[in-house]
Amino acid sequence: MRAVASNLQAKPSPGDDLNDTGRILAADPDVIGHQEIGGIARALFLKGRYLLKGLTLWATAIPTPIAWPTAWEVVAKGKEPLSGRVKNESHIGPKVLRAKRAPWVLLREPGGVMHFVMNAHLAPDPAKNHVVHAQQVDALAAKLAAVAAENPAVKRTLLGDLNTNDRSRLKPITDLGLQLGRRTADHGNHQLTYIASDLPGDRSLIGGMRSDHKAVLANLQEEPMPVPKGFMPGAIIKNIPPGSNDPAITPVGGVLHVAVSESDSLYPYFDGPSGGIESHFYVRYDGTIEQYRSIYFEADANYKGNSFMRGGKRCGLLSIENEGWGAGKWTAEQIASMKNIILWANAEADVPIQPITTWDGDGWGYHTMFGAPGPWTDKAGKTCPGPDRIVQFKEIIRPWLRLGGKDPQPPPPPAQSRVEMARDLFAQGLDLLEATPEKRKRVHAAIPEIQDWLDNTLPQK
Ligand SMILES: [Zn+2]
Repeated sequence: MRAVASNLQAKPSPGDDLNDTGRILAADPDVIGHQEIGGIARALFLKGRYLLKGLTLWATAIPTPIAWPTAWEVVAKGKEPLSGRVKNESHIGPKVLRAKRAPWVLLREPGGVMHFVMNAHLAPDPAKNHVVHAQQVDALAAKLAAVAAENPAVKRTLLGDLNTNDRSRLKPITDLGLQLGRRTADHGNHQLTYIASDLPGDRSLIGGMRSDHKAVLANLQEEPMPVPKGFMPGAIIKNIPPGSNDPAITPVGGVLHVAVSESDSLYPYFDGPSGGIESHFYVRYDGTIEQYRSIYFEADANYKGNSFMRGGKRCGLLSIENEGWGAGKWTAEQIASMKNIILWANAEADVPIQPITTWDGDGWGYHTMFGAPGPWTDKAGKTCPGPDRIVQFKEIIRPWLRLGGKDPQPPPPPAQSRVEMARDLFAQGLDLLEATPEKRKRVHAAIPEIQDWLDNTLPQK
């Protein structure tokens, strides 16, 4: 991950603004934290400029907004209180320091790595503002510690104008394992911008800024998250650990559904309110895949198909829920993602790529395939995945399954017989002869003779 922390001047000229944001974007950052950006007009300028680069700026987090890749998932965000309104004991900055809050955002990269990114601008001149500065550092450290306690896998990054060159003042943060590295230059005991992170990586300063502050770039190294067994690489993993009624299974096929929901995720429902009902997969309209359970454990969306005994072995059917209502179709992206899940399940666990023909057989089907009520649902009158999707299953997915996971090829043009090819060539020859000038009388005289031979002597086939 590449991160930039930059204290922009509060009142720049438009030219300086274009220059400075251009320099920052040229560093190709994933996340950006600004301090001291002026007001909402500036925030909206930055928002528009960053949007073109695929970054979303949380503009209302003034005066310390954060930007992140639009493609990353925002799991949560908030503003952590650091200190109340206090008198500024220093001659640097305003006479009264306003109440401080540090915005933070919990992000999930498409690859699954989770980042907690926080942005802060601390009280200036901590030699004079000793108490409030220490209180702010402690509040930051407490929040960063709480994040790790809740989820140790989350990578924490703090962007900030921390306003001190005395690193012992930042010990509550570095004691948590976050590394600081290089910072911006000291402008008389303030304007000291750092990037602190769990992730190792180098820091450099971005040159050519016209703001009176420099900007720091951190190139942070992430180890790729190992994908746990039974989970699909590329899927967003939101594991719901199997309960006592979710035994280990050998997956032998699966069932396609529609969720009757337009939620981005079924995790909040499955992880509690559903009462032990859950699916292995969920596919959003845009094809994004969430996975809630390893394919080697039972999930409960297929009634008797969840698991069953076969020759002393417990087998089970996987379940793929899809965003959408009963009416409507699977999107092209959803169909592509379901095919990818089926291909992966085959590569991972030898789940056969074929249409299923009995409720406890091998292969793939749709939820009400064997009736409602039936072996895959106890609900009378259930229509999942909806009439139009059942047509899609029959016309698109079943032919693909029958070919073992390949799309049917269009039939080749029918082969021509040699006589038909010869006739075509003669016809082209006649066209050429007819195109010769009229004065070549012997050529033109030959044309009806050849035509007669073609029509009456050469066999038709
Ligand atoms: Zn269903």
